[in-house]
Amino acid sequence: MSALSRARCMFRLKNLLEENLETLAAMLTSEHGKVRGDALGEVSRALEVVEFACGAPQLLKGEYTDTVGTGVDAYSYRQPLGVVAGITPFNFPAMVPLWMIPMALVCGNTFVLKPSERDPGAAMLLAELIESAGVPAGVFNVVHGDREAVDAILAHPDIRAISFVGSTPIAKKIYQQGSANGKRVQALGGAKNHMLVMPDAPLEATADALMGSAFGSAGERCMAISVAVVVGDETADALVAELTPRVESLSIQPGHIEGAEMGPLITAEHHAKVTGYVNLGVEEGAELVVDGRSFKHPDAVDGFFMGGCLFDRVKADMRVYQEEIFGPVLCVVRVSSYDEAVDLINAHVYGNGVSIFTRDGDAARNFVQHIEVGMVGVNIPIPVPMAFHSFGGWKQSLFGDHHIYGPEGIRFYTRVKAVTQRWHAGIRKGADFNFPQMG
Ligand code: NAD
Repeated sequence: MSALSRARCMFRLKNLLEENLETLAAMLTSEHGKVRGDALGEVSRALEVVEFACGAPQLLKGEYTDTVGTGVDAYSYRQPLGVVAGITPFNFPAMVPLWMIPMALVCGNTFVLKPSERDPGAAMLLAELIESAGVPAGVFNVVHGDREAVDAILAHPDIRAISFVGSTPIAKKIYQQGSANGKRVQALGGAKNHMLVMPDAPLEATADALMGSAFGSAGERCMAISVAVVVGDETADALVAELTPRVESLSIQPGHIEGAEMGPLITAEHHAKVTGYVNLGVEEGAELVVDGRSFKHPDAVDGFFMGGCLFDRVKADMRVYQEEIFGPVLCVVRVSSYDEAVDLINAHVYGNGVSIFTRDGDAARNFVQHIEVGMVGVNIPIPVPMAFHSFGGWKQSLFGDHHIYGPEGIRFYTRVKAVTQRWHAGIRKGADFNFPQMG
């Protein structure tokens, strides 16, 4: 298919996704547990990538230089890689696959998706919509399974590239094994995202931002803020006092209930892991201001619901600070200065997202320039880049050279070919044994 025809498939997919927005969101809520508004938001952000991919004919245009030598022209352009694969996590069953699929397909590749085994339904609905959009049979494929399916992808000689999104230990494995097998790999891993709260940050608006970004989707987001780094005890006291009643009164409900702010965790195993981290934080000496461990939903006592938890006086050497918890647990770390906060954040092994809340332009500009994190928000709690920029963290949050979707997506799913051509092949100059020169 031409680039234009591929782009037209994406225009049709965009319309189909809009028509099926509610169905897809309801599926996310029932399988993953996230609340309806959050599920709708996930699909809407995914749509932006499909919209970006509609511009493929422009994005894939090459470069041409006329007359690099007498009668010689040169050009370079991007060709697809061939068969590429995507391996995705449970927490965004529609959005993360759609970070990859539209980009890979408009670049001219075929795609094998291995969705999370914990909520695989959305992948099947996406497959139906992609087929209805006119993508030929065999171009988009779904393979279900867990580690075994992933290992088969890693070993398959026909698969040229792998996009992975998931936890850091698996991302590292995919990057190492995939690269060793000669594949191009982008492997996005876990996170521990900080919000630096300056003394001049507006208290209530900052607390609003923290509530949504720490407890939205029960904290199961790679861009969730899980640490508030607060400058000065006075600011920290005020912020903790502002947050406490809000965390205590979170509306924790099945995701389809009107007004629900937070649904259940994904599995019993994950519930046990998150609860275990809260136990650990208490043992390590952090102050548990709000304890959500014993929360039970009256209509689902065996469900995986958990209450919001708020830790104060968390220290940098505690495991609850160092490790990704991926649940509704917010840690407050108190620091005495802006510089101490920046040093703390820069020393962390993860570098996915970060945010500063302040009214001070100098501090914000300095923060943007010196913070060692891939995605930065200034008074924006979850700075997920728009589809025409690219998404990716630094340090242990990403393995590989390319960020995902946007212009980086085009680069990842194509390779450049450079052509130098002469069209007066019959003219003889005699054999030249020196290294070829133009001009
Ligand atoms: P996960 O690493 O457990 O699973 C991700 C994928 O890897 C799944 O498809 C799973 O089947 C597969 N997998 C799991 N164990 C494997 C193994 N041993 N060998 C090969 N494949 C294996 O991640 P998850 O629990 O589904 O998702 C949550 C994690 O994903 C969190 O760490 C979160 O931060 C991260 N995440 C990161 C981003 C990002 O953009 N950086 C986005 C979303 C989620």
